[in-house]
Amino acid sequence: MKCPVCGATYRPTKGAKQQGGETNSNNSPLPSPSPTCRRCKADLSDLLSLHDQAIWYHRQAIHFLSIKHYQQAETHNNQALALYFSNSDFHALAGKLSALQGEWREAIASWQQALKFDPQNAIAGHCLQMIKLMAKNHL
Ligand SMILES: [Zn+2]
Repeated sequence: MKCPVCGATYRPTKGAKQQGGETNSNNSPLPSPSPTCRRCKADLSDLLSLHDQAIWYHRQAIHFLSIKHYQQAETHNNQALALYFSNSDFHALAGKLSALQGEWREAIASWQQALKFDPQNAIAGHCLQMIKLMAKNHL
């Protein structure tokens, strides 16, 4: 995910050592340091919790997809997108769900959106290519 302020890629540092040398007079530090952008030092904690929620909805959506409850899956994936619109995997899944329900126009739009956010998104790229081939064969 990217910092909304400066666009730097944020990587969570699990178990990272606290950097010494800082003049911090606060005697009651927070249990866990709030995540900040390494470039512009913006506080990313709100964004991260939104991101976690979005991932949760996305996982629910994948679960519903696996048991073929497409409508439920779509609802949850839409929640994920509402929280975190620039995740290409969410758009790729939205495309897949649309395709499974026969909504090809929406599927293509979602996959194109996924590629806009991540040109390397394998699912979206593959599906769009497949559709192009299908369209070619029907002309
Ligand atoms: Zn930043």
